[in-house]
Amino acid sequence: MSVVRTVLGDIDPADLGVTYAHEHLVIDGGRPVELSPDFLLADIDRLAAELIDARGAGLRTAIDAMPADCGRNPSKLAELSLRTGIYVVAATGLHHERFYGPSHWSLRATEDELTDLFVADVTEGIDERDYSGPIVRRTAVRAGIIKVAGSDGGPSARDLPIFRAAAAAHAVSGVPIQTHCEAGTGALEQIRVLADAGVPTRRISLSHVDKIVDRGYHRELFSTGAFAVYDQAFRWSDRPNGTLQLLTWAADDGHADRVMLGMDAARQGYYRSFGGSPGLTFLLGQFSGAMEARGLNAALRHRFFVDNPARAFAFSEVPA
Ligand SMILES: [Zn+2]
Repeated sequence: MSVVRTVLGDIDPADLGVTYAHEHLVIDGGRPVELSPDFLLADIDRLAAELIDARGAGLRTAIDAMPADCGRNPSKLAELSLRTGIYVVAATGLHHERFYGPSHWSLRATEDELTDLFVADVTEGIDERDYSGPIVRRTAVRAGIIKVAGSDGGPSARDLPIFRAAAAAHAVSGVPIQTHCEAGTGALEQIRVLADAGVPTRRISLSHVDKIVDRGYHRELFSTGAFAVYDQAFRWSDRPNGTLQLLTWAADDGHADRVMLGMDAARQGYYRSFGGSPGLTFLLGQFSGAMEARGLNAALRHRFFVDNPARAFAFSEVPA
């Protein structure tokens, strides 16, 4: 039977329930926080309070999209899940190069070495020190997705071996893959690289693509069989809501079974428990109201929040 791998163990995909598909529940230091202190999400009491609020609004599962050496703390993710009853899926993989700097170990690792690191996080347990150095101590918390990041327009020369390592790790472990699309771009190029390396497109989800409000781009993306994560819904301020427009087009074009929603709320300033806004309840509250008003009814929203994540985040079965 296929599973979803949460920080507390494997579950039946049918048990995921309402899922946010690209979140940042914990960012416990690392270069992102050095670049911007607002990225620091380490106060478990506040994070738990935010998640309990979201649970009250209906949330059951959150996919944490932070890959290796970017502030992951597997023990804190597990504690958050225990304290709130929210299923949490953790990531391995590597982020955009700006989060590492020019002398990072990942630039010197071979594709096979990267594959082994990703697979070990998925099958054995995430390094307690987040692959920040050569001393690795594995926790019991296993990763349930591989997150890799493309650059503007698609995978760069730096990104390509990382994408291929993710594909190889998928082949070994069955783990689903989620990508970062820089400014929403490069989705098709990313899918091509992963599919050429043998990843079934139904195991690929592409985040941030709703930064590009172009019906043709999204139609092409959906036609590959991959999933889109629309995670920009609260970022349009006084402009027309592009995320809402894209959701409407996806439904009209018959692609409602390929879209998921997320907050990508990687800053204290987005968390109510840190005094920010709009808070993690936004998608299930205000934005669900906006979807309803736009004709995106409860049955469609059930697909975005429940049915599609249950397929996108399930492991492929790997021959023993
Ligand atoms: Zn993110």
